[in-house]
Amino acid sequence: MPLDIITIPCRSDNYAFLLHDPASATTALVDAPEAAPIQAALDQRGWTLSTILITHHHGDHVEGIPALTAGGGVAVIGAAADAHRITGLTQEVREGDQISIGGETAHVIDVSGHTVGHIAFHFPDSNAVFTADSLMALGCGRLFEGTAPQMWASLSKLKALPSDTLVCSGHEYTEANLRFALTIEPDNPDLQARGDRIAAARAAGQPTVPSTLKEELATNPFLRADLAEVKALMSMSDAADADVFAEIRRRKDNF
Ligand code: ZN
Ligand code: FE
Repeated sequence: MPLDIITIPCRSDNYAFLLHDPASATTALVDAPEAAPIQAALDQRGWTLSTILITHHHGDHVEGIPALTAGGGVAVIGAAADAHRITGLTQEVREGDQISIGGETAHVIDVSGHTVGHIAFHFPDSNAVFTADSLMALGCGRLFEGTAPQMWASLSKLKALPSDTLVCSGHEYTEANLRFALTIEPDNPDLQARGDRIAAARAAGQPTVPSTLKEELATNPFLRADLAEVKALMSMSDAADADVFAEIRRRKDNF
């Protein structure tokens, strides 16, 4: 049985996700931007939090931890590399580790780049990956700590997941990402069509997250740095994939 996945808007543009396994009445949270909307979503459904999974140490992903764990009995799982800078971790994990949420197993993937120690959680049976500020809808996180080759290697791991995987990312940045993506591939028909869907969703007040890996592969310029057509558009036909990625990231930083 796949987990129920609930998207919770938090703060100005963050997303947290509740994962619920009805059979075992287990509920996990991915990231804790702030407590109030998450607690409200739990209360509304009568769910009790058992586990919090943390992707990385930034304040807009962890500041809800103290309030959400105040009642006790909540495991807080995050990267060993971040243990010194995430208050309240009860379990440290590394790339390749597995975690059980109810009846389902999640795999930990190191996706360093935005920060060093950023992790993603892949749930193969639910076809979902929680990527926060690594792979984002039509974008990727800014390189605050890691290098471009490191982020390219991280994105390459995510690219290799099944294409029907749901990409549950951490922010509603998609409209701005769309404007930038169109500067790289103005004539990409999949990108143009996605742009129409994004505009309609936002006009209706709907989130554009989660997306699918299939649509990211077809439209997200940061995942497409290895394609001959993208390299040609950037006049970088002979460049290495990671160098093309670095140039796309540099242009986005200055966009
Ligand atoms: Zn961040
Ligand atoms: Fe963030």
